[in-house]
Amino acid sequence: MQLLSAEELAQLSPAEEAGFPSPIPTQVVASDEYFPQPQSAEQKEVEARLVAMADRLAARQGLTRRRFFQTAAGMAASFVAMNQVYGPLFEASEAEAATPELAQQRAEALAGQLVFDAHTHFLRDDTRLMGFVAMREAVGRAGWNRQIGDRPQTIDDLKYANYVKEIFLDSDTKVALLTNAPSEVPADWFLTQDQVFETRARVNREAGARRMLAHYTITPGYPGWMEGIDKAIEIYKPDSWKGYTIGDNTHKDLSRHPWRLDDEKLVYPAYEKFAKAGIRNVCIHKGLFAPSVEKQFPDLRPYVDVSDVGKAAKDWPQLNFIIYHSGYRHVGGSPAEAMREWEETGRISWVSDLADIPAKYGVGNVYGDLGQLFAFSTVVQPRLAAALMGTLVKGLGADHVVWGTDAVWTGSPQWQIEGLRRLEIPEDMQRQHGFAPLGPAAGPVKTAIFGGNSLRLYRFEKHAALATDRFAALKAEYERRGAGRSNLRYGYVRKPA
Ligand SMILES: [Zn+2]
Repeated sequence: MQLLSAEELAQLSPAEEAGFPSPIPTQVVASDEYFPQPQSAEQKEVEARLVAMADRLAARQGLTRRRFFQTAAGMAASFVAMNQVYGPLFEASEAEAATPELAQQRAEALAGQLVFDAHTHFLRDDTRLMGFVAMREAVGRAGWNRQIGDRPQTIDDLKYANYVKEIFLDSDTKVALLTNAPSEVPADWFLTQDQVFETRARVNREAGARRMLAHYTITPGYPGWMEGIDKAIEIYKPDSWKGYTIGDNTHKDLSRHPWRLDDEKLVYPAYEKFAKAGIRNVCIHKGLFAPSVEKQFPDLRPYVDVSDVGKAAKDWPQLNFIIYHSGYRHVGGSPAEAMREWEETGRISWVSDLADIPAKYGVGNVYGDLGQLFAFSTVVQPRLAAALMGTLVKGLGADHVVWGTDAVWTGSPQWQIEGLRRLEIPEDMQRQHGFAPLGPAAGPVKTAIFGGNSLRLYRFEKHAALATDRFAALKAEYERRGAGRSNLRYGYVRKPA
């Protein structure tokens, strides 16, 4: 089966060899609230160690530094450098970084892992939202995602073609759930509801298997929102629901319809419809409301924490409440601030509150999604990543934590996948907080988080097809060509004959 034209294959050759990484930025260039903070002293040290290691190993392997970072050995090197600075949190060895065969073997052994990313985004073609371009650049420059590196980003990087490439070719993701965000300004929805379901149909048709699931976005209080749900049930047949209790997250200054999950009058009639239709997964954006954001929008503060989750979950045992970002507050703020909170109190806003809900309310239908909170902790403050994972697994259960990356805001999710595969909670933290170890990459805890839990939530019966469909063949071809995760952009998915 020929999936790529000659021209397309030509584009798969490694990118031009510009210097990499770029000088470390001394400050954040734009003011988008989801921006990574400037590098800390520790990150600078990681960067310096990594560059030194990469130059040494790349030369020995006959590669440029940029190319080295695109290999499995380069990925391992990043985690080795982090271990040197933060202590042994990641499973990675210098031998792996120095021996391409060893690194490649490990990568290949895990490549088939069922990674179900229940939190992904791209933007409509006519989008006016440019903030995410700068965010990707900042993530590249801060050294979080070495697949981005110092490549200038454009709005096309946020659109469909690059989305498919970064999710299904550049990462080990097998299934993705496409989500959305509403706005009071119709033109500034990430996608229209139609586009979401057209994309699901297109991807699944092109793949020849169920690769994509889709959200219908509910907007309680907006005119016509209940009729929209009827239409969704009848026509779109969504896999689950997405809601933003903050109302309008994109234009917080325009938010006129914030709401609470436990508002019996406003949203319980919608839950009734969900239950009746048998579409039981309710995905809710929570958190991402750092103290600096609260200062700007104090009126929205009552809607962004998780204080409304417990009662709703208790009243609606037939539904599942999947809390996106697990209510993590500090994205857009400082990971150091989150770390300080953890060290002083043993809690993190509002992840610890979420983790308390099953015990406090006696419920088993509350889940935590890892979108953004993993990205914003794993590289910059890995002990914080360990604390977050420990807190969620202990409170919700390993069977109630679901993988999500919020890709492609921070580029292809492979660096996050590798992060969780390798992360372990340090022993002192395990002892002090009663956390169980996360275990190996393919052990029971990580297998459940990466895919098992969402497979169950979405009643995903036949997933054997994922190993043999058109996307599987395409990825095999891509890797065989030494794709180098480089600059392939358009036209790599042929229309099925
Ligand atoms: Zn999101």
